[in-house]
Amino acid sequence: MTQVMDVAVIGAGPCGIAAGAALKKAGLKAVLFDKGCITASIVDYPPYMTFFSTARNLELEDVPFVVPGGKPTRQEALIYYRRVTEHFELDVRQYEEVLAVEGKHPSFSLRTRRQSDGEETVYEADSVVLATGGFHEPNFLDVPGEDLPKVMHYYTEPYPYYDQDVVVVGAGNSAVESALELFRAGARVTMVHFGDTIDRGVKPWVVPDIANRLEKKEIPSLFRSRIHEIRPRSVLVENTGTGQITEIPNDFVFAMTGWRPDRSILKSLGVHIDAETGIPKHDVRSMETNVRGIYIAGVLAAGYNANKIFIENGKWHGGIIAQSIIHRS
Ligand code: FAD
Repeated sequence: MTQVMDVAVIGAGPCGIAAGAALKKAGLKAVLFDKGCITASIVDYPPYMTFFSTARNLELEDVPFVVPGGKPTRQEALIYYRRVTEHFELDVRQYEEVLAVEGKHPSFSLRTRRQSDGEETVYEADSVVLATGGFHEPNFLDVPGEDLPKVMHYYTEPYPYYDQDVVVVGAGNSAVESALELFRAGARVTMVHFGDTIDRGVKPWVVPDIANRLEKKEIPSLFRSRIHEIRPRSVLVENTGTGQITEIPNDFVFAMTGWRPDRSILKSLGVHIDAETGIPKHDVRSMETNVRGIYIAGVLAAGYNANKIFIENGKWHGGIIAQSIIHRS
């Protein structure tokens, strides 16, 4: 028999969990689906990272998040969000990917596939919340050699790169933080970026550190430059002003050029995506898209600028959505 629910929430990251909790508090039957485990994005963070947000700002609903240092570690956040999931007794179907959503309000059907055995299931929901995040696939450099195994689009830890020539592409928070960590772990780091300098959005307390390393050339930088080609033992870098190409020795490349969301389900339902910003059309007062009964929550609502919405502000979307659904019915 097809399982029926008031609301299907696609994605069990912090903002999907926040939506699940708010919907449950509002008395709605909500089921969450995640193609991985809960908070899969945080599981993939660098293992020793500390959040820039305080624990208080990462709290969901009324479940206190208390840590000794004020700013939680990855591990503390993983434990906390699991605790919230348990506290609200959320119905989460982990390792079950939503492949497609069809139909219209109040009768959507979701087709899912379970990771363990590939079994597909169809569910019915009155409304659907997409909280699928912003980490679907990297912004590829699109240059020859990008498929070499030494090229990575995410960073975890610096220790494997001692005494290695490492290029970090980009100049946002991830690029700057990984460059600093790699440098301190004994890698010879070069930063390559098409802009003039590090991005304006880099966390203010990190700026002096990277500025000093760049100024002293402890971390050499090739700004106004793009990767032209990646070879097994070197990288060709093109100066975008002069067109001049420089070959530098290289063992590993971290392409920290950001990630992009998957909007295929939204598009298939007829949700308009702004071509310039990548933001799905929605009403910020309800988080409902231009398709009735289809809502978005979390960083997915930020389009291409993932720095605009994060846990601190995306966690409120669930409550807004719950109110919208309740007042409609
Ligand atoms: P996500 O956490 O990305 O969750 C989306 C979920 O959807 C995933 O679990 C994914 O598996 C699932 N999914 C996707 N497609 C499907 C599908 N078709 N079917 C089923 N499931 C699907 N934010 C802060 O507020 N404070 C911080 O201090 C902070 N520090 C950060 C540090 C790092 C290193 C990084 C990378 C990010 C940081 N962020 C921080 C940002 C924060 O992690 C994201 O904003 C947050 O994860 C967004 O939550 P979300 O629930 O919208 O999406």
